[in-house]
Amino acid sequence: MTTLTTLVIKPKIRGFICTTTHPTGCAAHVHEQIAYVKAQPPIERAPQKVLVIGSSTGYGLSSRIVAAFGGKADTIGVYFDKQPENGKTGTAGFYNTFGFEKAAHAQGLTAKSINGDAFSDDVKQRTIELIKKELGKVDLVVYSVASPVRTHPKTGTTHRSTLKPIGASFSAKTLDTDKDIVKEVSIEPASKEEIADTVAVMGGEDWMMWMEALKNAGVLAPGIKTVSYSYIGPKVTWPVYRDGTIGRAKKDLEESAKKIQALLKPLDGRAYVSVNKALVTQASSAIPVVPLYISLLYKVMKQKGNHEGCIEQIHRLFATQLYSGKEPTLDAEGRIRIDDREMDPDVQAKVEKLWHEVNSENIKAISDIESYKSEFLKLFGFGLSGIDYEAPVSPEI
Ligand code: NAD
Repeated sequence: MTTLTTLVIKPKIRGFICTTTHPTGCAAHVHEQIAYVKAQPPIERAPQKVLVIGSSTGYGLSSRIVAAFGGKADTIGVYFDKQPENGKTGTAGFYNTFGFEKAAHAQGLTAKSINGDAFSDDVKQRTIELIKKELGKVDLVVYSVASPVRTHPKTGTTHRSTLKPIGASFSAKTLDTDKDIVKEVSIEPASKEEIADTVAVMGGEDWMMWMEALKNAGVLAPGIKTVSYSYIGPKVTWPVYRDGTIGRAKKDLEESAKKIQALLKPLDGRAYVSVNKALVTQASSAIPVVPLYISLLYKVMKQKGNHEGCIEQIHRLFATQLYSGKEPTLDAEGRIRIDDREMDPDVQAKVEKLWHEVNSENIKAISDIESYKSEFLKLFGFGLSGIDYEAPVSPEI
């Protein structure tokens, strides 16, 4: 008989990553989001068979939760997380997925997941087999992968993304979340190779490859919709975001939506990019400048009463845009703008004013750094109400 190791698990933060996770805390985080969705009116015309690629954390997890609990969809999730091993905790997405599946099964819904590299041909093939076996066809594909690295399935080359400006170096304020200080960060411009590598990782090629593979396998239902997520944000972040390497990748992703739309024409399908709000996720916490901006943004939006997290954003996207019964409202570039409240001119003017004022002395008073930090910890299952963090738990589930 094997005995499970139990541990008292505390957060261990290194820069923008927490190296420990709390299994029951992660499940509680998922349940918080499920409870939010259940408290909203059901989404009438919701999809019924949904594939989410990048389904274990952040916007992808929220998409899966909204589909399942807002619209009773059967779901397949593809994600890439570490399992617990040798008494060490797995990564948050592993526990989130377990918590999600358990809750979905209790509701009588099909919920299956594949833990593997979405960029590979093998995972695409395995997903197609699983769709055929469990769902038949899918009527929504959400592509929400955020990764620092991609091994190209055709060339075998491993591309690494960078978060750098293009053309000129960039200096700006940034938040040191370990020391709670505001400091200056200076980033050198990316080389041509770094730009191309970032586009290879975070651009639209893999989304396109997924949609081609799914279409060729005959597992896309007529009227199929697919959506992927982008970000624009305010001018203060543009040199490192929108006009930087990651922005170049996002422009490529947005262009891919048009190509995918053409690919789906015979099925009367639709491909959308939704521009979402800046939020604390594992992906965004790695971007210089963005955590400071988010801390100020949260302060302003909470004061205004229009703050949203991932689950509120995605619920609004499904209920008012993708499945409202009308065509979504698109901007001049053909994108859905669920970042409208973030980009509201009054919100932006207030954030900009605070941006000029903020320093190490006033950071706690004029920003919502406390929420930034508590939401960061929640990503790893810490700080959830109802969890006894002094009690030993098993990393194995
Ligand atoms: P996240 O880090 O929380 O989630 C990323 C997901 O991708 C996880 O489920 C992870 O397991 C999965 N993943 C990573 N590599 C994978 C691989 N090789 N194979 C399979 N799955 C893999 O990120 P997020 O912030 O939710 O980002 C999702 C999308 O939303 C991205 O396109 C991002 O640019 C976009 N977005 C994020 C923000 C923000 O502020 N966080 C704002 C707007 C748009």
